[in-house]
Amino acid sequence: MARTRSDPAPTAPSDGKRRNLLLAALPPDDYARIDPHLEVVPLRPRQMLHQPGTPIRHFYFPGDGFCSQLTVLADGRMVEVATVGPEGVVGLLGDPGHGTVTSAAMVQAPCVSVKMPAAAFQREMNRRGAFFDLVSAYRLALLRFIMQSTACNAVHTAEERLARWLLSAQDRLGSDQFPLTQEFAAMMLGVTRPTVSDVAATLQRAGLITCRRGSVTIVDRERLEAAACECYAITAAIVDGRQQPRPFRAVRHNALRAVRRQALVRF
Ligand SMILES: [Zn+2]
Repeated sequence: MARTRSDPAPTAPSDGKRRNLLLAALPPDDYARIDPHLEVVPLRPRQMLHQPGTPIRHFYFPGDGFCSQLTVLADGRMVEVATVGPEGVVGLLGDPGHGTVTSAAMVQAPCVSVKMPAAAFQREMNRRGAFFDLVSAYRLALLRFIMQSTACNAVHTAEERLARWLLSAQDRLGSDQFPLTQEFAAMMLGVTRPTVSDVAATLQRAGLITCRRGSVTIVDRERLEAAACECYAITAAIVDGRQQPRPFRAVRHNALRAVRRQALVRF
């Protein structure tokens, strides 16, 4: 099982720019060199930070909240493939040779972020120092996250994936209640709004969540974890910097069946 709210979350210094864990981990000399290039900026929900195929001008280091990395399809639909919070940096999914991004990036929750010009970012990477090491390690973690999301989107049910997304959002935001519309959830999960409506109704009837006027409240986290697919524990471990999730509970599948029976919905 992944981190619960009673477990200590990764911490970072709360003084302005170094709320981001990557920046906080830099040795003083390395940080001092890039500090003049860093700007603290507020980010608003739904703000697009990057669009695929466009030049990358800035990298973003979230200090709280989180952003989504999205694959954009030809018809404009977007599907979330990863989330990036204080553990990472937004802008790594691109083509360094051409200086363009290949994935959209959108702010999910209001947050304070540090913005760094792409030229300064690349200069520091070229030094092959601590900054390069930290960003490279995070790039591998991001790749693991995306690989897990690819498998998740392919084989896990919308119910399992919505449960996973809700748990991850709760972890990221530190709140039982947060804004979420059916339209937005459908976009994140790559499913239709009626599917989201059906799945949310199932979870609500089972007493795991309540939905009201564009917001969702997690009522029973433990049973929501049981309803989520294994990807929640795996991606939570990646976000926390752990190599492996804690052993997944063997009772999960029985618990999930019980949720479905309680909801009186056939799958
Ligand atoms: Zn999954």
